[in-house]
Amino acid sequence: MRLFDTLTRTERELRPIDGQTFRFYCCGPTVYGPAHIGNFRTFVLQDVLRRTLETGGTRTLHVRNITDVDDKTIRDSQKAGQSLTDFTAAWTAKFHTDCEKLGLLAPHIEPSAVEHIPQQIAMIEALIAKGHAYASDDGSVYFKISSFPGYGKLSHLDERELDLGKTQNARANADEYEKDSVSDFVLWKSRRPEDGENFWPSPWGDGRPGWHLECSAMIQEYLGDTFDLHSGGVDLVFPHHENEIAQSACACGGHFAEHWFHITHLLVDGGKMSKSLGNLYTLADLEARGFTPMEVRYVLIGGHYRKQLNFTLESLSAAREALAKLAKGARQLASNMGTDTALDSVGFGPFQAAWDSLNNDLNTPAALGGLFTGLRTAASLTGKDAAAALAGFNRILRALGLTLPEETEVEIPEEIRALAETRWQARLAKNWAESDTLRAQLANQGWLMKDGKEDYTLEPNKE
Ligand code: AMP
Ligand code: ZN
Repeated sequence: MRLFDTLTRTERELRPIDGQTFRFYCCGPTVYGPAHIGNFRTFVLQDVLRRTLETGGTRTLHVRNITDVDDKTIRDSQKAGQSLTDFTAAWTAKFHTDCEKLGLLAPHIEPSAVEHIPQQIAMIEALIAKGHAYASDDGSVYFKISSFPGYGKLSHLDERELDLGKTQNARANADEYEKDSVSDFVLWKSRRPEDGENFWPSPWGDGRPGWHLECSAMIQEYLGDTFDLHSGGVDLVFPHHENEIAQSACACGGHFAEHWFHITHLLVDGGKMSKSLGNLYTLADLEARGFTPMEVRYVLIGGHYRKQLNFTLESLSAAREALAKLAKGARQLASNMGTDTALDSVGFGPFQAAWDSLNNDLNTPAALGGLFTGLRTAASLTGKDAAAALAGFNRILRALGLTLPEETEVEIPEEIRALAETRWQARLAKNWAESDTLRAQLANQGWLMKDGKEDYTLEPNKE
């Protein structure tokens, strides 16, 4: 498949470097509260990328970390009066529940920052030894960006009118610093009173790792110096991913990520959403409004990952209708195929265009469109042709990670059934006037009676 690469700004073919397994890393959640649906846009698109590769026959190794120590997790665990471990464990569990509801495949490896303190210390030691990092008087350690000429390539700093020379002596100690300040960034933060019990011993004294370091250390541990793809929301391009490249390239010497996949932010009602702005929806919020996680997933894949997607509650209602339509189409195909099975079920049949869309820069909205057009084309198929088409349809659904709603049995009240029966007898007796009156009476009560050759059906009248 082809995918846009942030570093080279071109669409490039995705192929495992080792010719066998596509190994990729996704920056995971910071577990200090529930993930919002913006975070899930990113995680869902990463999931569709993995599912598409696997559907195409490529084996994957998916690593996604848990950020369980940083300024925010420490601050909020203290507010909650809990240990950092208990606090982040509870939010990690909540994250996992949400992921499962949204149909996300669990990563093969899910390492956490706190579990990899020795690896992070070792990386800092390597950086100091090679002249890329220095300790300050207070026992913090900083990465010296002037020591790495490649700094800024991913985010195209040179095109952003930032003068590296001017800001070179500045230092940033916060985990998240001003997006446009280019400065030596912190690798190890010396212990401060507000850290409470959350510190570890190191050659530079007690402290804790800076946020950017954990991903570099865990990537080195599980994927080595060079791996296939790195991913996150677009806000991570600078400084987080830029800093990861600097740390890893200087400490390990490898090529780091072959490909960079960044997902554009989700907007809500036309505006920016973030934990700090407080205008976020969580999955729980939407479930409380009666929507299902699959409807949320449908909306999140309803836009191309390189374009902004505006989330509204109306889009969830539209997703409900779309999913019901797809389910109906699938039932129709299943009934057309009867007892036949697909002889050759490796292709996509009428759903080839949907498959091509996924392989063409992960165009999920076009793939969804392809499901509907494919169903229209497939409507006339019967027997084993219908079976083959259904197999193709289901393969696309799996790649998109969608499960369709079950048909809900509509309960027909006894008096409605009796009325319909009377009308059917009137119709058989060619008693047209009575038949029409009874049909109108049914419609008034919200039921649509459809006449077949030998029988009739009753459906709730949606008009
Ligand atoms: P965090 O838990 O803040 O570390 O973020 C987890 C992931 O969600 C990262 O890849 C972020 O880039 C991504 N992210 C944060 N906000 C949004 C948003 N509004 N839309 C899409 N992705 C987001
Ligand atoms: Zn990261």
